[in-house]
Amino acid sequence: MTAAEGFRAPMAIDGGELEGRVAIVTGGASGMGLATTHALARRGATVMVLDLAAPGRAELASTLDVAASLLRSVAVDVTDGDELQRAFASLLEERSRLDILVNAAGIAPPTPFEDITAAEWNRVLAVNVHGTFLCCRLALPAMRGGGWGRIVNFSSTAGKTISTAGGAHYTTAKHGVLGLTRHLAKAYGPDGVTVNAVCPGLIDTPMARSVLPDGALERAAESFPVPRVGEPWEVAELVAFLVSDRAAYITGAAVDINGGDLII
Ligand code: NAD
Repeated sequence: MTAAEGFRAPMAIDGGELEGRVAIVTGGASGMGLATTHALARRGATVMVLDLAAPGRAELASTLDVAASLLRSVAVDVTDGDELQRAFASLLEERSRLDILVNAAGIAPPTPFEDITAAEWNRVLAVNVHGTFLCCRLALPAMRGGGWGRIVNFSSTAGKTISTAGGAHYTTAKHGVLGLTRHLAKAYGPDGVTVNAVCPGLIDTPMARSVLPDGALERAAESFPVPRVGEPWEVAELVAFLVSDRAAYITGAAVDINGGDLII
């Protein structure tokens, strides 16, 4: 399943709420990042997608059915500080503001602990944690300068317990994302910047399909209180709320969205 084939739009979104806002979504070319790009652009935000697999702007606009003028798309590895610096600088030069950062880029190799090499360990920590750190560091000066900002970091149920499919490096990384989120929330709340994490359970994305064998997602979800796999747009709706003015009093939170998985 390609990212574009896997994309399903949610029920109608009422527009306008994020008009004038400027956002960056890492990992915005697939799965929940792609759905978040859709949710923010549909509400009027300009969204720059930063992804290893960045699609062209026209292709992205056609997949999401939003105006191409609201979209930017740059091929970036979130572990590369120089590439990130150039991408953030180009958006800031063009729009002179950055209001929203969503860190959704991630990898979750399902490697058993005894087979994890030091290189693979470092790569999983680099993409999931170091990339999030680098993007937060680049975004915060502009947000603080504007007196308003929203950061949403993708953790996981793996950040609260252990991963269903990913390895120990992934579980460790998603715990790390929560630590970073809480630290930044405490530090920058007085500047008008909220920093939250979302902790999705099993969501139907190319990542989940690639790390679990056929049918395993559905079987795992059968025992959930809401007995099905989650949809990317359901997580994107949560992110869209967290980056809105309506969520101004929520910061440092690690919000579960998992069909009730964790209460079992
Ligand atoms: P996905 O694989 O569909 O999308 C992830 C995107 O990140 C891809 O477009 C990929 O190209 C990009 N990416 C990977 N490494 C990158 C790098 N170094 N630089 C830039 N971009 C990079 O995955 P998804 O399931 O939508 O995952 C989104 C986030 O949610 C991830 O952080 C993941 O760990 C987390 N998560 C996923 C699930 C799930 O069930 N799918 C559950 C909990 C948390």
